[in-house]
Amino acid sequence: MVLKTNVKIDSGFKNPHQTLGNLRSRGSQASKESQNEKRAQSSNQRSKSNLNGHSLEKRKLPDEIWTVLRCPYCKGELKRTAYGAECLKCHDKYPSSSKGQLDLRLRRIKKCSMVFDVVDKTPSKYTIIENLSPNPQLRNKCPNKGSGCISPELLSYFPKGKNSDSLMLDLGCGSTPNKRDAEKAGFKYVGLDFDSGKSTILGDAHALPFEDETFEFVLSIAVLEHLRYPFIALSEVHRVLKKKATFIGSVAFLEPFHGNSYYHFTHLGIINSLESVNFKIKLISTDQKWNALTAQARMGLFPRMPHALIQLILAPLQIVHSFWWKAAATLYPTEARKIKNSINLAGSFMFIAEKT
Ligand SMILES: [Zn+2]
Repeated sequence: MVLKTNVKIDSGFKNPHQTLGNLRSRGSQASKESQNEKRAQSSNQRSKSNLNGHSLEKRKLPDEIWTVLRCPYCKGELKRTAYGAECLKCHDKYPSSSKGQLDLRLRRIKKCSMVFDVVDKTPSKYTIIENLSPNPQLRNKCPNKGSGCISPELLSYFPKGKNSDSLMLDLGCGSTPNKRDAEKAGFKYVGLDFDSGKSTILGDAHALPFEDETFEFVLSIAVLEHLRYPFIALSEVHRVLKKKATFIGSVAFLEPFHGNSYYHFTHLGIINSLESVNFKIKLISTDQKWNALTAQARMGLFPRMPHALIQLILAPLQIVHSFWWKAAATLYPTEARKIKNSINLAGSFMFIAEKT
């Protein structure tokens, strides 16, 4: 049985009122163009008046990135303009943000369709690596610390850029903590975020503004749980990756609700989501340093408390927990074998997948 679903994507998953705004702006083509024009002019004025801060010049995108940029609405080629960009096909205008970022978020509702094979089937069985170790091939040396929120172990699995034109996309790049590591691995870094002052391109994960088969590597750390339609976003990642290219990421599991998170993934959830859009899974793993207790304590119970103090508070509970699990394995051996402690208590899951 095949289920076909139509999903309307709008540009404002952080702002529910924006959908209404988009609907209202769907009048005649002429009025839409006039609105776009006004928006372009006002943004241009803002950018000009902001030359001492983040000017357009400072945020200038290299030519090789311009050549792969596409209209998020119709995938038409984009023309560089004084205020930002314009689609050569549907003529949507994309004025830069007040900070000089190229703003390629959707300007109107985009309808997306996906086809699912609905059968009574659980996702494929995978060996889930409990507590990931550094990559034995050490393509990238495992540093002592991961930069930002990526673990050093996962960092050691970064692929290497094939040549000087190899592009990688940091989807949901935030303050671009992974830029240096991606460049060290030989990639030209492209950071995209829906709402970050540090990103050179603003965009929506549900409608990526890039040509098909552009990137050799996509990274997405703690992003998918914040998206309204993760299946759509994953199919977009699949579309913009080259064949056999790598997709590395992490998703929240037992972290508390945070930053408007919609869907927290179990290991089956992320396996199913990746397989549904034809990714081949290479690795699913937990992170020893990020279990439910640590995640809840740092993000929910004691936010902003020094980590050393949190570890001190958690230590007795961790000790009792370890002791009880060892005791339970002896007392209830059959039941204990069925439960993977680190999987049931993972704060998040990491994954490495390949585009088939
Ligand atoms: Zn267009």
